Amino acid sequence: MHHCCYSRHYFFEIRKCGVENCEICSPLRSDPEIFNNMHHLPDPVPKLSGGSYKTFEELYGTETTEEFRPSAQKQTKESQGMGFSPSAQYAKNVGTVIQCGECDKWRVLYSKSKLSYEESAKLSRFLDGIQYICGDSFDGLTSEIQQNEFSELFLKVKVNDKLNCQSNMETSYYSCRLFENEICFICGEQCNQEDMLNLSTDNEFYYYCDECSEKVSKKKRGKTFFGSNSRKKQRNI
Ligand SMILES: [Zn+2]
Ligand SMILES: [Zn+2]
Ligand SMILES: [Zn+2]
Repeated sequence: MHHCCYSRHYFFEIRKCGVENCEICSPLRSDPEIFNNMHHLPDPVPKLSGGSYKTFEELYGTETTEEFRPSAQKQTKESQGMGFSPSAQYAKNVGTVIQCGECDKWRVLYSKSKLSYEESAKLSRFLDGIQYICGDSFDGLTSEIQQNEFSELFLKVKVNDKLNCQSNMETSYYSCRLFENEICFICGEQCNQEDMLNLSTDNEFYYYCDECSEKVSKKKRGKTFFGSNSRKKQRNI
């Protein structure tokens, strides 16, 4: 494994060492010149100016680390925060959730005031074109070209960039009662009616899938509202 394998969160590479008579690798079959110009896939490295990542061409052949991997960076990154506390009403003002490309959890979008039709349409257009991972902020995901178009919208619309893929679902996801409810609070997986666990106190509870309910059953539990029966997942209005 250590000799010729290269393991990263996003990929796993096996590359012969290229040394003649290696006892581990079999002999090269490709052209040695081409082989010697083959490098590891680079890790994501942000531009100094921030906002986006360096191109493959810039990084190929250079030494990179996983330091800047979006989902690894979250815990240490200085997050900007949203400038306000998440609430069910702020979630309702946007009425949209976005799914993390790594952990698959749905994250809630917030705004202190209700979005206009045009703003909602613009937001949908933006969301369709991005790959979101927990901890991202919309400002961070906006490319330079998009700055003009979207910067004003994202003064208003926020996603909580203090979250990471280990974070539970947000309570506002449930309490705004807009989104599909049978989602495990811990892992974000869909819960079947049968393995749903009602841990209610005063009519407030979270859903837990079978697996997670075992983990939390002895721990302290949070609380949220049991939302409506709406099963429709509204990603966009
Ligand atoms: Zn070798
Ligand atoms: Zn995630
Ligand atoms: Zn779960």
